[in-house]
Amino acid sequence: MKDKYGWNFDNSYVNLPPIFYKKMDANPVSDPKVVIFNKPLADSLQLDSDLLEKEDGAEILAGSRFPENAEPLAQAYAGHQFAHFNMLGDGRALLMGEQVTEEQRLDIQLKGSGRTPFSRGGDGRAALGPMLREYIISEAMYALQIPTTRSLAVTLTGDNIQRERLLPGAVLTRVASSHLRVGTFQYAAAFGNKEDLQALASYAIDRHYPSVKNSSNPNLSFLEEVIKRQAELVANWQLVGFIHGVMNTDNMAISGETIDYGPCAFMDEYDPSTVFSSIDREGRYAYGNQPYMAAWNLARFAESLLPILDDHEEKALELAQEAISGFSAAFEMKWLEGMRKKLGLFHDEKEDADLIKELLEIMDRHHADFTNTFLALTFHLHNENQLFNEIDFMNWHEKWQNRLSRQANSEEEVLELMKKHNPSVIPRNHLVEEALEAAEESGDYEVMTELLQALSQPYSHARAIHQKYKNAPAATDQPYVTY
Ligand code: AMP
Ligand code: MG
Ligand code: MG
Repeated sequence: MKDKYGWNFDNSYVNLPPIFYKKMDANPVSDPKVVIFNKPLADSLQLDSDLLEKEDGAEILAGSRFPENAEPLAQAYAGHQFAHFNMLGDGRALLMGEQVTEEQRLDIQLKGSGRTPFSRGGDGRAALGPMLREYIISEAMYALQIPTTRSLAVTLTGDNIQRERLLPGAVLTRVASSHLRVGTFQYAAAFGNKEDLQALASYAIDRHYPSVKNSSNPNLSFLEEVIKRQAELVANWQLVGFIHGVMNTDNMAISGETIDYGPCAFMDEYDPSTVFSSIDREGRYAYGNQPYMAAWNLARFAESLLPILDDHEEKALELAQEAISGFSAAFEMKWLEGMRKKLGLFHDEKEDADLIKELLEIMDRHHADFTNTFLALTFHLHNENQLFNEIDFMNWHEKWQNRLSRQANSEEEVLELMKKHNPSVIPRNHLVEEALEAAEESGDYEVMTELLQALSQPYSHARAIHQKYKNAPAATDQPYVTY
């Protein structure tokens, strides 16, 4: 039954074996206040925006009070963090419920809502800045048409939290097709029995991969499908220059959505070794490593499924290895497919991979901006882009023009294809920082709202928006660092 806010929870997660969660009580906060609210998303969830955003709904979005039909819980999971295995779980989040509409079932999670049985030493809280950052970047990813969790609201709690200094506490309301992670399966494999593991797999299959139920080995087909979706996801990241920053196995969703926006950022200059995260000292999660790290995580996923892939251990291992070895071809195919579109290519030629790799090498050599190079190619911005004066680029450009002339498609068709796959507006680091600073320092959410508006139409290529947001940051000696 829907309540007055529109919450229509049906909590399937509580039907899993009890090792997978702990029920949660509300954690009251001092003075909840919604500072950013996603009305279009609320509408698609059939929620009452006015009640939630402007009236007493803030208490709910801050985790201070629960709707009557909610059965909030903290999820248990484990994970490899920078290759080290740990027991984790929702340490500062809770699943308020699964919002069900005619079309969909979506997790409503509160992040920063206080301590849980999985908090270990942490305070269970989140600071305003990082929650606004997740809101901006997740919504930008959504607009870029990359599978992602979304953000419904950021709500100030009215309480300060202790970090290097005192910071305002906030709660992000996150919407996801589920919060099942590779780490949830690692948890089942490490701390549950075979029935627990199978219950989790069946749950994930029901929720995300119902078509594999008809296969001769549904668990194996499930593994193969997750691998395919992750290959596609990471290919999508590479195609827009997105760097996740913490691709730990607990931050990889079984649904194939991008999840857990921490130290993530978009690359300006193309360089495969780009790392922004302060904690990634060895560049494990550098841009160019992301496909390898995804494959590594999926191998951990496959390992956790071994007991239910086949009754014979050796056979299970063989099946798992075969599935994992499919990742790189699946990734390469999706990546090539996407790169061809970025370059306006409609059909396949064997030499396309070389043509694309040569362009990337030239971009790397000349520190070319990733996003703006593809825009310059799309719109023939010869005068605005330094690359067009470089000999190696000119040679490459001629090869590309020859390649284009070998297809029957018109210039208009090429332009349309390129416009659809080369965004004008990405959440550039300096733009995100500017928006966060205005919000954090002076409670001014206008800059962020305007940025969100521009980010919501990355492929519209409206001249005015493009001009305002396209600029790469001014050169600086200070590398951009995320936390
Ligand atoms: P993350 O790096 O955001 O993926 O978080 C890794 C783990 O640390 C997860 O289990 C989080 O729930 C937990 N965690 C992060 N911050 C806090 C916090 N302030 N209090 C308790 N647990 C936290
Ligand atoms: Mg996480
Ligand atoms: Mg370089």
